[in-house]
Formats: sequence, C-alpha cells, structure tokens
Amino acid sequence: MSSFTLWVDGYVQEKRQIRILDGNGIDYDIDVGWHMVKQNSKMIENGKYISKICLGAVQCSNEGYTAYKIDIRPKSTLALIKKQLKAVCVRCHSLSLEHIGCLARVNFKFEGFHCTMIHQHNHTYKAYDLIHAPRMALARFREHMLQHPAEEPLGLIAGTSPISQTALVSVDNIHPYFSHQGRVKYHRGSVLQATGQKSSGLKSDENAFS
Ligand SMILES: [Zn+2]
Ligand SMILES: [Zn+2]
Repeated sequence: MSSFTLWVDGYVQEKRQIRILDGNGIDYDIDVGWHMVKQNSKMIENGKYISKICLGAVQCSNEGYTAYKIDIRPKSTLALIKKQLKAVCVRCHSLSLEHIGCLARVNFKFEGFHCTMIHQHNHTYKAYDLIHAPRMALARFREHMLQHPAEEPLGLIAGTSPISQTALVSVDNIHPYFSHQGRVKYHRGSVLQATGQKSSGLKSDENAFS
C-alpha cells in the first residue's frame, strides 16, 4: 500500500481535505511518515506552495556487523542529525554512524479547502521504523477504540473479541504502527483517559502507560 502516512517512493500524488476546526481555524493535516525539512515556500493564487526535502537516513558504516547499512530514522533537523552522528551505534558500539542524504521531495500546494501533495524522486534508503503514528492513523485508532472501549490490546490487534465473541477489524489494518502491543496499550490508555472511560471492570489498566 502506498500512502503518505506509510511510505511513498517515486512519483505519488495525494489530495487531502483541510479540516475545519470547532473554533474557526483550519487544520492542515500534511503529516507524512518520515522527516523532511522545508526548502521553499511562496504565496500562489488562492493559496500557498511549500516544498520540502527528505532528511534521508542514518546508517552504520561498520562493515562486518549485522547492523551494516541498516537504515535508522534520522533526527528531525540537520543540526540534530549532526549530534546524532556523534553518538556510538547502539548495535556495534563504535562511532560509525553516517548520514545518507536523499533527493526525494514533497511539494505541498494549499488551495481552498484542500492540499495536494506531490512526492518526487526516489529515496536513497529503505523505509525505517516509524516512531510516531501519523495523525490520520491516530484519529482512526481513536474512533475504533471508542466503538470498542472494552477490548484489550491483544484483542484489538488480533481483530477478535474475547468479550463479545465477534470479529473486529484489527488495528493493524488501520496502520502497521499499531501491530506493536506496547504502542496499542499506550494509545488505548490515552484514549480511555481522555474520554474519562475505564475499561469497564476488566483487568486493571494501570500498566497502559508503562
Ligand atoms: Zn554499528
Ligand atoms: Zn528520502
């Protein structure tokens, strides 16, 4: 599946609606699943244009180790990446991390109530693990959770309900980020807490934030 909230490569175009907030603001959800840095922006007729370039990846250059050339998520700015490179590789414990630049870019064109996102060029590395769920995926997870507040993390991931004995949609289908039990536990706890719901007399939820 190719989606900006997962990983896109080469030429990909996606159009998103802008969300009108309860007040009178508007919310530009232009979240993508990896780090980019702003390169350019300008006002255009009826809107705005922003271009961003991919921040690439960090790799271990220590040949002979299993982590050799495995892509690590870079920090969110060039200055932070510089710092990141000064730390030892967590796998081989040597100062062997290097930054891999990337030519991939995304152009965002905001016009009226939508934003067109155009991804161009290929990444110079493979997709790395996401550490945050994209906002759209979190919103869908929240909706799903509120429909099934009694389900526990394992049931949510497996897509079967030990409570109601019915089949659910696995949260893994919302986004692969949610295939991890610890993450589901954490986000489930956050949703329940935010809505003031308890897990209706089921097993204690106290560990949800661990
Ligand atoms: Zn290493
Ligand atoms: Zn890239």
